[in-house]
Amino acid sequence: MNLVWLRNDLRLDDNPALFHARQSGPACCVYTVTPNQWSAHDDAPAKLALWRARLIELAKELKSKNIPLKLISHKHYQGIDKKLLSLAIDIGAEGLWFNHEYPLNEKQRDQQVSTLFEANSIAVHRFHGDIIHEPGSVRTQTGNIYHVYSPFARQWRKQINLVDIEPLSAPRKQTNTTIASDDIEKIWTLNDSYRDDLWPVSTKEINKRLDKFTANSLSQYKALRDIPSIAGTSTLSPYLACGAVSVRHCIAAARRCTAEWLDNSWVNELTWREFYRHLTSCYPHLSRSENFKATAKPIPWENDDRHWQAWCTGTTGFPIVDAAMRQLIQTGWMHNRLRMVVAAFLSKLLLIDWRKGEQFFMLHLLDGDYASNNGGWQWAASTGADAAPYFRIFNPLRQSEKFDSEGKFIKKLLPELSELDKKSIHNPSSKQREDCGYPQPVIDYKFARQKALDGYAKAMGKN
Ligand code: FAD
Repeated sequence: MNLVWLRNDLRLDDNPALFHARQSGPACCVYTVTPNQWSAHDDAPAKLALWRARLIELAKELKSKNIPLKLISHKHYQGIDKKLLSLAIDIGAEGLWFNHEYPLNEKQRDQQVSTLFEANSIAVHRFHGDIIHEPGSVRTQTGNIYHVYSPFARQWRKQINLVDIEPLSAPRKQTNTTIASDDIEKIWTLNDSYRDDLWPVSTKEINKRLDKFTANSLSQYKALRDIPSIAGTSTLSPYLACGAVSVRHCIAAARRCTAEWLDNSWVNELTWREFYRHLTSCYPHLSRSENFKATAKPIPWENDDRHWQAWCTGTTGFPIVDAAMRQLIQTGWMHNRLRMVVAAFLSKLLLIDWRKGEQFFMLHLLDGDYASNNGGWQWAASTGADAAPYFRIFNPLRQSEKFDSEGKFIKKLLPELSELDKKSIHNPSSKQREDCGYPQPVIDYKFARQKALDGYAKAMGKN
């Protein structure tokens, strides 16, 4: 019997650990429920509800292949090794099979489990199912890890022909085993929910979303991806995060639609995802909440509580920022352009430590993903590997006028401003704010910008 440990790879198709385990013999899957660890990692309750719903779907698919699914509930990663081993011994497992995860805690957990299994003469088989090129395998000519995205992406593309990017098929059906599946709903109890009208979890619906996006929107992605009022992006991130769909599935779908897939901007975004995964895997300090780049002096965070509360509740008085934050709170997802705007607003104009924003995002995002979230935040705060230069400070008003020119997105999320015309909606007058019951701006943009520039310049050793 081969024991397959499922984690952020909740799919039947293109799951290397499951596929290869099944090729080598009969398989039994296990999923570990670690609630205290998840809350220590700030995983959003809604995200966990989505993952649980997805696991329930996957259990049905596994059943159709006669593959049982066991659940182990244990508060933390610490100690999970012994519980897994005990299950492996119970079912007579000859091997443990899993796909890698890259943040530090997960790597340490996996190392601990592997050591215990190997000490008990149970072979451990590991695969890279969440990425195209193994972390550390895309290197500069001098053998270093890339810190800059563009040359990384060029090399990533060059190496594509060295690996197989065809998705694997689903595991073969096996004959019935005597191992009984566990009841997920009983073992993994949750009171939290997510917007299941927006985020279906069946494989059929998820594949439909991928196929529809690549067939209808891929060619326009470059032009539309920055407009939050338009459904111009795939909205696949929650599924990529839990592994309901794989990056190879995405690339295969892109390849079906365009011969120039390797130069396509959507594939380029998937490559950013890969870049952050490589960095997370190769630089453990990123998993310890440290800046990627050391600064000459600490950034002078103000961490003003009134500003923080205004940002969290979407009441800063900057309509595009507030609409974005309300989108996050109401749906568990935020458009990429807006993530950049609100992250830059928090870390630069409000001078609030980016780690607070990173944590808030994790606590609310359905697609919360350590590597991408940390990468995005450090990019915005200018502390990351290939970050925005410190002096690039998004002007929320200009961003709003440029990417939501008609104010459609703002009106949808801030109905109190729906009567305003498309010019004043980006920055209502004091009187309009009073009439609409909308707050005055929490900061003066020009003053805050200069303060951020001065503080950052000192921190970066520029004066
Ligand atoms: P699409 O535009 O359709 O892109 C396809 C896929 O590529 C996405 O689903 C995602 O997996 C990946 N991707 C796209 N853009 C990026 C990017 N800039 N960096 C890394 N991967 C990318 N993405 C997450 O999946 N989880 C996070 O926790 C997360 N936090 C972020 C925090 C900040 C501050 C910023 C600026 C970005 C963050 N992103 C995160 C990246 C990006 O915003 C989302 O992946 C994207 O908005 C998801 O929407 P989509 O699926 O429609 O993306």
